[in-house]
Amino acid sequence: MATATAASSADSDTECSVCHELFKNPKLLPCAHVLCRHCLLSWLTSNPEALCPLCRGAIADPKEKSKTKGWVEVVDALPDDVAMAALVESTRVLSQDHVCVGCKSAADSICLSCNDMMCKPCGQSHTNFSMARHHKVEDLSSMTAEELAVSQPDHCSVHTSKPCELFCPTHGAAICHLCASAKHRACPDLTELAEAADKSREELSQMVMSLLTEEQQLEEAVAALERHLEATEKVVQEAVAEIDMTCDKLENSVKEFRRRLKEMTLDAKAKVKDTVLTVKVTLLDHRGRLTSHRRVANRTTRGSTNKGMCDVTRALRDL
Ligand SMILES: [Zn+2]
Ligand SMILES: [Zn+2]
Ligand SMILES: [Zn+2]
Ligand SMILES: [Zn+2]
Ligand SMILES: [Zn+2]
Ligand SMILES: [Zn+2]
Repeated sequence: MATATAASSADSDTECSVCHELFKNPKLLPCAHVLCRHCLLSWLTSNPEALCPLCRGAIADPKEKSKTKGWVEVVDALPDDVAMAALVESTRVLSQDHVCVGCKSAADSICLSCNDMMCKPCGQSHTNFSMARHHKVEDLSSMTAEELAVSQPDHCSVHTSKPCELFCPTHGAAICHLCASAKHRACPDLTELAEAADKSREELSQMVMSLLTEEQQLEEAVAALERHLEATEKVVQEAVAEIDMTCDKLENSVKEFRRRLKEMTLDAKAKVKDTVLTVKVTLLDHRGRLTSHRRVANRTTRGSTNKGMCDVTRALRDL
């Protein structure tokens, strides 16, 4: 009966990421991830670099293993996640079908004081007893694993039938009155467990607040980095565009310069050619005249009178 609602209330937080089952003996790693004790042991055996399978955070110094006898000691030195263990137990209890302690029919309620499962009628008659007048009988179907875990009585880990009612700050342990008068007889400052729990609750909520603040600060820092990266990208893009533009301009200038150099060279060549041709014509003219003079002079030398020779010589000299 209770299976469906209880199973859906058990979110994946109570599941081990290695075996994908409800945690068994949950161990708290230094990175604050949680793994079953046996899952952690087999993980370390096959991955001796000792990094968390979820975040690669260090679980233990790999050298520690050689110093001690083995991974068992390393794993057992890690703290138990008792809150997770209680939550898993409550999840398991809620997912099972239960039998009424009174009439043996199906149970749909729980007495949070006795931790007994009951049917509705037996639950009602239970609180009619004067002994159980103040007991809280709750409907199982509307109960979450968290609510059940919180309502479970704390029992002494040594005297398992005795309730834990005291806290020893020296040993950091929740203890029963028997323990207080035996092992913790000489311990100073024993306090009520409820009082110690209030302090722990206060400390935890302060921790949550400061972690939240740190998280926000980190988020802001990441956002600032992202903005910086974006700005840098923009600057780089602009620089690349500038480079392209400048190089395009340079290329165009070189092209124009080449064109003009060629043009000037061709122009100069044409002018030189003109000049050479003009000079050549002049020279040819001059040569023509010289040839005629030479012919006249030859002719006159070979076949002229003395007077003719003198006249021609004078005429040629005056030309
Ligand atoms: Zn596991
Ligand atoms: Zn981790
Ligand atoms: Zn009953
Ligand atoms: Zn009861
Ligand atoms: Zn005890
Ligand atoms: Zn003590």
